[in-house]
Amino acid sequence: MPALAKLLKQKTGPLTAELLLRPNDFGLGKLPRNLETDGTASSVCGFCSTGCQLNLHLHQGEAVGLTPSTDYPVNLGMACPKGWEALAVLDSPDRATAPLLKEFANEPAKEISWDLAAKIFSDKFKKVQATYGKDSVAFISTGQIPTEEMAFLGSFAKFGMGIKHGDGNTRQCMATSVVAYKQAFGFDAPPYTYGDFEQSDVVILMGSNLAIAHPILYQRLARNKRNPDIVVIDPRATETAQIATQHLAIKSKGDLPLLYALAHCIIREDRVDHDFLREHTDGFDDFADFVKNYSPEATQEKSGIAPAQVEALAKLISDPTKRVSMWWTMGVNQSHEGVRTAQAIINLCLMTGNIGKPGTGPNSITGQCNAMGSRLFSNTTSLLGGHDFANPSHREKVSRILEIPEENIPREPSWAYDQIIDGIESGKIKGLWVIATNPAHSWINQSKFHKVRKKLDFLVVQDMYHSTETAQTADLLLPAASWGEKGGTFINSERRIGTLKQVRHAPGQALSDFRILQLLANAWGCGEMFEKWSSPHAAFELLQQLSEGQPCDITGIQGYQHLDEQGGIQWPLPTFNVQRSTPNIEASPLERSTLDVRRSTFKSERRLFEDHKFYTPNGRAKFLFDPPAPLPEPTCEAYPFTLLTGRGTSAQWHTQSRTNKSAVLRKLYPAELLLDLHPEDADRHGIADRDQISISSRRGTITAHAHLTTNVSPGEVFLPMHEGSTNLLTFPAFDPHSRQPSYKACAVKVLKTP
Ligand code: SF4
Repeated sequence: MPALAKLLKQKTGPLTAELLLRPNDFGLGKLPRNLETDGTASSVCGFCSTGCQLNLHLHQGEAVGLTPSTDYPVNLGMACPKGWEALAVLDSPDRATAPLLKEFANEPAKEISWDLAAKIFSDKFKKVQATYGKDSVAFISTGQIPTEEMAFLGSFAKFGMGIKHGDGNTRQCMATSVVAYKQAFGFDAPPYTYGDFEQSDVVILMGSNLAIAHPILYQRLARNKRNPDIVVIDPRATETAQIATQHLAIKSKGDLPLLYALAHCIIREDRVDHDFLREHTDGFDDFADFVKNYSPEATQEKSGIAPAQVEALAKLISDPTKRVSMWWTMGVNQSHEGVRTAQAIINLCLMTGNIGKPGTGPNSITGQCNAMGSRLFSNTTSLLGGHDFANPSHREKVSRILEIPEENIPREPSWAYDQIIDGIESGKIKGLWVIATNPAHSWINQSKFHKVRKKLDFLVVQDMYHSTETAQTADLLLPAASWGEKGGTFINSERRIGTLKQVRHAPGQALSDFRILQLLANAWGCGEMFEKWSSPHAAFELLQQLSEGQPCDITGIQGYQHLDEQGGIQWPLPTFNVQRSTPNIEASPLERSTLDVRRSTFKSERRLFEDHKFYTPNGRAKFLFDPPAPLPEPTCEAYPFTLLTGRGTSAQWHTQSRTNKSAVLRKLYPAELLLDLHPEDADRHGIADRDQISISSRRGTITAHAHLTTNVSPGEVFLPMHEGSTNLLTFPAFDPHSRQPSYKACAVKVLKTP
């Protein structure tokens, strides 16, 4: 038993909220050293997956300002508006400062103590499970909390509470990439390092408005001194398309046919890398047969791209003298056929040998600050550490390291997010726990979420704000500390693990999610099962042990300080030449010298597959493909426009829970909802710029103002995803492999309102 847990038990009995809230008791509430004095603490940003490091400037124990770190290998002294305003959003009057219980629908929620909140959490969910069965309670997690917290959450929910079904909001952004990589490479392994932006000769950006969604990565690309061709493939003339060397304005969801046409041309011209294909891949011959039918001419109607343009791009991608990298984000992932589209990108990189070398790679850029942590450690789709719930040896390993009974580990993965929502609708799920996410705003076909909410017996929301659309409907609200008010680690898009620090006190009685989980586990009666999870750092050590032998092995990391010294560390970093069962106990002199040698040869930027060995059983990457499927909801006479959705500006983040709390950020995006509409379409419908209009799909009607722009093609319109009403329109289609929702294309009509 860890010393701290032992001490707590001897001195205090059970872990109570009173103890957690009291400062300086047994180290639990003690301020970190960097808060005792003025000075500077570094922390990875808590918005997006770029993972910039910020220097927080402290005065009398509180962060009072920040500047981007100049020596961190990610952002090199840069930050986007959200990062600059990271502290401002902590000070909102909307912060949840005490647990709130809503007992009666027509009465306001009332403040209760933490101990009572934990008891109610336990009593209510246990009652639901006793009435409807163990699987009648589910959880929806997030990519916004540190890895240590999300692993604790997934472990407590599944191994302690006996919950089988839990998913994360990462399902909405990255599930497609996860499945695409897993199937093709044998593990969810984005292969690149950000340096590849600077080392490419040809950069293909597909469904990625990099300049807006990942502005610091765009700046990294701008540092490329190789005079690269930058090709943007996107239905819209986005900010990124406008500064690219080439823009291919594909039709909405014309991406998969276009990618097959590119492969067709490269194979027809015999411009493939035969040696690489023979030595390191499986399935190429079948794929070559398959794409015979996808000539540029045959695919033009679906892709919208002229054959000559396709031929020219195919030549560029397959030029053996050029380093080609292909990057994608939500335009690919949020699709009814996202997995096969992502794999069509992977196929192109494999057939041209553009992988495992500087400036190459099929590279998915993830979304949230810790989506990558969630992908490995949330304990939802895969068992902790990228393991498999169905694999007995994986279950045994997790059981042994965490010292939990093996029978507590489910033998199958959870239902996906949409299946959980369907489970609520069908009455199979009656209790829901939502942590740091806002499905009442972000879920596709939003009105369905509002409808099924009414079928829940008990909804718990754990969030830093009481004002999110989901928090406002909660039966029980648990106030959580935010980024800046707690410690831990995030993993960024290029697999870099970096630390975040506590530089502010959480307001009122808000607790870190880690402390909330300790409290809830204790109230549930399984606190002893999680005694090893005594602090975020102790949890990190458990995660390291769980990673041992996996592609994401991080047993070589020597704690948080090592991460800070190295400017973050990309996985994998296994322990070389040293056999240790508990990797982060004090290193012996022998170990220390080995580590010192390794540190001296440590490279701060590392890409995967330099040896061309993949994680599949035979070490070979796989070609995967299917014929393109029809659009789930094509346009028609009644609904003649295709609605595209996406990021509005670099000052906005997802459902705006945080970014709308900053007066600076609010000035950087339009105050009103604007629909991008092509002037020709506007003419036809008698609509002028800034006219009030209605936008209707088969699921609902919303109002906005018209923004006439040629950035969208005729027949297509665009809405930013940040406005709560946008998802009243979206059509609930899901990729069959990843079950990621398709937010990018549904049929709508647009009318001028009187
Ligand atoms: S680019 Fe992302 S990580 Fe960097 S400052 Fe902006 S929001 Fe933060």
